[in-house]
Amino acid sequence: MSVRMPSQAVWGTRRNSSVMAPERTHMETIASKVRAGIALSRADGVYLYKEAPFHALGRLAHEVRTAKNGKKAYYVVKRYLNTTNVCYADCKFCSFAAYEKDPRAYRMPLEEILDKACAQPDDYDELHIVGGHDPKQTSLDFWIPAIAEMKRRIPHVQLALFTAAEIDYMCKRARCSYQDGLERLRDAGLTSLNGGGAEILVKRVRDLICPRKANVEEWLEVHRVAHRVGIKTNCTMLYGHVETIEERVQHLLLLRDLQANTGGFKCFVPLAFHPEGNALEECGWTGGIDDLRTIAVSRLMLDNIDHIKAYWISYGIKVAQLGLHFGADDIDGTVNNEQHIYRDAGSTTDQSTPIAELKRAISEAGFEPTRRNLLYRVLEPA
Ligand code: SF4
Repeated sequence: MSVRMPSQAVWGTRRNSSVMAPERTHMETIASKVRAGIALSRADGVYLYKEAPFHALGRLAHEVRTAKNGKKAYYVVKRYLNTTNVCYADCKFCSFAAYEKDPRAYRMPLEEILDKACAQPDDYDELHIVGGHDPKQTSLDFWIPAIAEMKRRIPHVQLALFTAAEIDYMCKRARCSYQDGLERLRDAGLTSLNGGGAEILVKRVRDLICPRKANVEEWLEVHRVAHRVGIKTNCTMLYGHVETIEERVQHLLLLRDLQANTGGFKCFVPLAFHPEGNALEECGWTGGIDDLRTIAVSRLMLDNIDHIKAYWISYGIKVAQLGLHFGADDIDGTVNNEQHIYRDAGSTTDQSTPIAELKRAISEAGFEPTRRNLLYRVLEPA
């Protein structure tokens, strides 16, 4: 005798009468909105974070990810440099920065930067540079000729340079507008801005963790102007420290609103806070569940951003693989051993992974490894 299973619609649904339509759960309502292309609300975001069944959340995020990007999982072959860790901004979550006289402080001279940025083999597609707010290096006068020289030596490489916080710092020091500074950088050869410096875009949080760098409005304005002058950018969220769930959702809504106006964000990158060697040590490490839930909620809330990155340097390659099933379509890429920011914060993840290993990790997760450039053009051969 066969056993009749209840239909899927009955699971988790409370019926009070055989003639009444079943009450929809909040998750079902959200799924309907997502499938109808309706942007989710603040309340939806908080629900997804705090109450949504974990697997149902992951399934829905995966559905969206598949609709946007099919089976593709992107990676990029890049070179990464942190050219100076000298910084006086004193962000409480930062394990990387050092005052000038600190024995940990370093500042690469221009020739070292150019040698590392342009070293052979130059078979990479992206050069990624971020650094501290260094009074002696982080300036338009230093970087504009440096960028022009990089473009001369490695014209095929796209340049992902600086965060909005660094742009704010450089433009204020040069006493110029964001538009003027960004146009000069663009004309020198800058392709894209990196997404860092966003942390949590809420004044209460920034007052606690990073009161001395670009504020909410300034961070958003740099990206708004960058998009206006033709520079695409990424955006991030540093989560897992002093913020509330409601503040994470507020952050996502601000990014979505800006994207609705400009369309200039390529990718959103949730960054897990790492606690070692900084003033927020007591916040501890994020858990894998929070990491995956954050990826999935991001995928659902940021319906107008095409790509969500499971940044393997932040979570490790194993969680990044799972992230591909929770809404992410990108795991970042190969980097050389010059990534200091997560290493200084206690990351034990190997900071360099060969292409073959990334492709294996993507394939093992059931996706198609797809080599891309900075602007998500697919490159061949994969
Ligand atoms: S996060 Fe950036 S701006 Fe803040 S202290 Fe660290 S290097 Fe400086």
